[in-house]
Amino acid sequence: MPQSVIVLGGGIIGLSCAFEAARRGMRVTLIEPAALGGQASGAAAGMLAPYSENTEQPDSFFQLCLHSLRHFPEWIAAVEELSGLSAEWVRSGSINVFMHEADLLPIQSRLRWQNEWGADAQLIDAAQLRMLEPRLAQSAVAGIFTPHESHVYAPKLVTALEAACLKLGVTILLQAGEVDEVAVHPSGGVTVRAKALEQPVHADRVVVSAGAWSGAYERWFGLSIPVHPIRGQICSFEHPGGEVRHMVFSSQAYWVGKRNNRLVCGASEDVAGFQTHVTERGIGRLIRSSNKLFPFLEGKETAHRWAGLRPATRDGQPLLGKVEGMPAVIMAAGHYRNGILLSPVTAFIVADLLEGKPSELPLQSFDPNRFTPIPYRRRFV
Ligand SMILES: Cc1cc2nc3c(=O)[nH]c(=O)nc-3n(C[C@H](O)[C@H](O)[C@H](O)COP(=O)(O)OP(=O)(O)OC[C@H]3O[C@@H](n4cnc5c(N)ncnc54)[C@H](O)[C@@H]3O)c2cc1C
Repeated sequence: MPQSVIVLGGGIIGLSCAFEAARRGMRVTLIEPAALGGQASGAAAGMLAPYSENTEQPDSFFQLCLHSLRHFPEWIAAVEELSGLSAEWVRSGSINVFMHEADLLPIQSRLRWQNEWGADAQLIDAAQLRMLEPRLAQSAVAGIFTPHESHVYAPKLVTALEAACLKLGVTILLQAGEVDEVAVHPSGGVTVRAKALEQPVHADRVVVSAGAWSGAYERWFGLSIPVHPIRGQICSFEHPGGEVRHMVFSSQAYWVGKRNNRLVCGASEDVAGFQTHVTERGIGRLIRSSNKLFPFLEGKETAHRWAGLRPATRDGQPLLGKVEGMPAVIMAAGHYRNGILLSPVTAFIVADLLEGKPSELPLQSFDPNRFTPIPYRRRFV
């Protein structure tokens, strides 16, 4: 087992990996160029929704998501107990709402395979829909109720993970500035230099969890890392009565009622480079969808508007695993729309790799070397 690990990036993925590695007895240093949770992880709606997010088939990505959901109870309990802070985990269940009879055609096959994978989901008619969600528009014709989906308040999970990491003795280096160099030594060990750090940091291993910025590490690992940012614009409304009880998904948007009396509505998916501002067009679409599905929101101003950059990959699958020829380097990036959901399972996989344990999950689809042509892969180990 390595004695020491550097984690690069302080979003939910880096913090979760740091937490798990420290729980297993490793000495961990987390390097964050700016602030913890300051990017995608602080912007997320916090939904833990493997069934609603994967409607086609039980592929390896769905299985990864489901595995993570199933570990959330023990994960949250451990983080909250160590940190003494709540991540506001709400087991709300979810409802996928359909507005047209034609939308119901592919539903039976979805229900069949999802229920084989433990969804306990049911098709509900318009009357049942309104019993579960009285504020829904009359025009909604049916829905799928999925009881086991839930949500957390993502910024609070970040804060709780930070506190839990500190309790476990993780060294967190904030405002470290740009990473200037990652030197992976053929004889073993890694050295990281960052602009605002006075000293280089050395460790046995390094975990790259830099979200949408992970591609910056291509030059040091001879690895093709096609991670790119997809902006998500998102907003919230005042929601004092908690009128929306479940997570609600339509074909246009989703809604999540938070404990802080806000109803969050997300999210756009736009290509805007590394820009994180919101646009009238992006938020306007969410407002129109909100008015259509929840007429009580008609005329209400948004309380807050924000955006974050999802780390997307070329094939939609995360990069999880060791860099070929450089076993000291582990990639944990590209979680796109599901990084909050996938945070526990990612942390377990990374910690297992650090300990040299085989994973109980099929990881071939997530191999971080899959984009690098074989002749170009590094071979010095
Ligand atoms: C609007 C929106 C809604 C979302 N809703 C959900 C949801 O409901 N459920 C869900 O599961 N997921 C959701 N997601 C996706 C989720 O937020 C991401 O998948 C997840 O936050 C990715 O975490 P991360 O730690 O990889 O990246 P980030 O949170 O972006 O963290 C990356 C960190 O790396 C740092 N960094 C930058 N450059 C470097 C460098 N060179 N070296 C080291 N570090 C660097 C950054 O400063 C940042 O702190 C949503 C995303 C958005 C934008």
